[in-house]
Amino acid sequence: MLKEQEINLVELIDRFHDEDRCRAYLEKMRWPDGVKCLRCGEKSISRRKQRHQFQCNSCRYDFSVTAGTIFHDTHLPLWKWFLAVYLIVEAKKGVSANQLKRTIGTTYKTAWYLSHRIRAALKEVDAQLLKGIVEADKTFVGGKVEGEGRGYKGNKTVVVGAMQRGGNICLQVVRGTDRETLHGFIRQNVAGDTEAIYTDEWPAYLGIGDEDTKHEAVKHRDKEWARGEVHTNSIENVWSLLKRSIIGSYHQVSAKHLDAYLDELEFRFNNRENPHMFRDAMCKLLVANNLPYAKLIGS
Ligand SMILES: [Zn+2]
Repeated sequence: MLKEQEINLVELIDRFHDEDRCRAYLEKMRWPDGVKCLRCGEKSISRRKQRHQFQCNSCRYDFSVTAGTIFHDTHLPLWKWFLAVYLIVEAKKGVSANQLKRTIGTTYKTAWYLSHRIRAALKEVDAQLLKGIVEADKTFVGGKVEGEGRGYKGNKTVVVGAMQRGGNICLQVVRGTDRETLHGFIRQNVAGDTEAIYTDEWPAYLGIGDEDTKHEAVKHRDKEWARGEVHTNSIENVWSLLKRSIIGSYHQVSAKHLDAYLDELEFRFNNRENPHMFRDAMCKLLVANNLPYAKLIGS
């Protein structure tokens, strides 16, 4: 992998202000051991600099560093992609399509589509199960939104979340707050033998613990917010971050797109201490679009 320190905006512009530099970066990331033919895997290739292409010296296949990736066939210059990714992963509360449009100088439609493709690429596909002490909670998003008139009729959407203490979060839009839904979410995202699950007193959580997982609930109704280490304050902080980003940056998020925003928030949160967040995000973009990694790197 590339050796790289944490990058700031000035360095980003300095390093990636033209297409050639962006291509060179993607090339190193895609082929850390040297360019390989995408069709036959041959390592002997010729560079056709003017056309930004490679030609295989064995099967004569022409290809570029962006072939088969999310970056291919977009009319957007690569440096704008790089800048957009940077802005999205670095902004704690997210970046609205409007803000992106102004910052990178595109139409609204382009900025909107771009941020959705980036979000989709950042989605965690093989997330590790949460373990140790896990807080689980639910929240409602939508309805009355600041800045909207009285006539605004957004529907409330239920979001459930779990957070490993000091670790990762997992957030998801669900259809309700019933036992089956909540238990299903926890079973899917939390290790079966996790030490403890802490929730509030909502009855649908009952029975989530078992012989190797203790379940305890704080009684918010009785104004109990914490009982020693039993609390849900960490996941509740995530809810306030989510709500501030929706109000502050996105203004209103339709239920349809909320899952994508949650994926983005998850990526940022789970990489909050990762000094290589930008690089890792670019890596995810390179392999996005359900393209098998093996095919992408040509092996
Ligand atoms: Zn070839």
